[in-house]
Amino acid sequence: MSELVIKDLHVSIAGKEILQGVNLKLKTGEIHAIMGPNGTGKSTLSESIMGNPAYTVTQGSVTLDGKNLLDMTVDERARAGLFLAMQYPAEIPGITNAEFIHGAINARRPEDDALPMRDFLKELYENMQFLDMKLEMSQRYLNHGFSGGEKKRNEILQMMMIKPKFAVLDEIDSGLDIDALKVVSRGINKMRGKDFGALMITHYQRLLDYVVPDVVHVMMGGRVVAEGGPELAKRLETEGYSKLRDELGLKI
Ligand code: ADP
Ligand code: MG
Ligand code: MG
Repeated sequence: MSELVIKDLHVSIAGKEILQGVNLKLKTGEIHAIMGPNGTGKSTLSESIMGNPAYTVTQGSVTLDGKNLLDMTVDERARAGLFLAMQYPAEIPGITNAEFIHGAINARRPEDDALPMRDFLKELYENMQFLDMKLEMSQRYLNHGFSGGEKKRNEILQMMMIKPKFAVLDEIDSGLDIDALKVVSRGINKMRGKDFGALMITHYQRLLDYVVPDVVHVMMGGRVVAEGGPELAKRLETEGYSKLRDELGLKI
């Protein structure tokens, strides 16, 4: 079992404090959801876990099995077993999707143990079929000209190929029609198991109907202010955030 532990995390962007003491613990074998109003720091949390240099950690810690992730480069964090599906996946012209994923896998393996191309392609095509993706998308430049839904599906493809210990999925459900949402959920559920943990950031209950979370965290004003089971997300769906905010006596 592995454990990702976030303690009292404070993060600033351009001198403004966005995260104001986030505490959260995630184990392999678990899938957690993070919900919260727009602008509350959910993407800031995921980018900070992954090591985006635009975000300055001013206090607190993020550890994976006791090792301090904050001392590691983005590459080192990836090798330690982290994966981030970004809210807005980047387009990289000049490198094909297949090249990118193969490179990402090999970067996480010892230099003398590269994944042979044949094995890689076999697994890639199996996973693309599983995700209802056209195989020709493997030869297109990474995310270049992909629709919003295709980018999200492609993030799940990368995750399935890379097999991280922990994945942070930032609004993996945004912009998806119902068929694409089912496909993306199928991919996450396939990963579910004792060697995998995920943090799914979402605004909507509908993803959580397909991928039922073990724990739901609610973020407001740069902190986790409430935690519960799947019923907490259902409650927010019907009541919105304002009722919870009033109950907790928050002035955010
Ligand atoms: P969420 O993902 O919960 O919607 P974000 O983490 O994206 O929220 O943003 C949290 C806050 O940080 C917002 O007020 C946002 O405007 C601000 N913010 C995010 N990125 C930047 C940036 N690059 N420069 C300045 N402010 C930013
Ligand atoms: Mg947002
Ligand atoms: Mg966001």
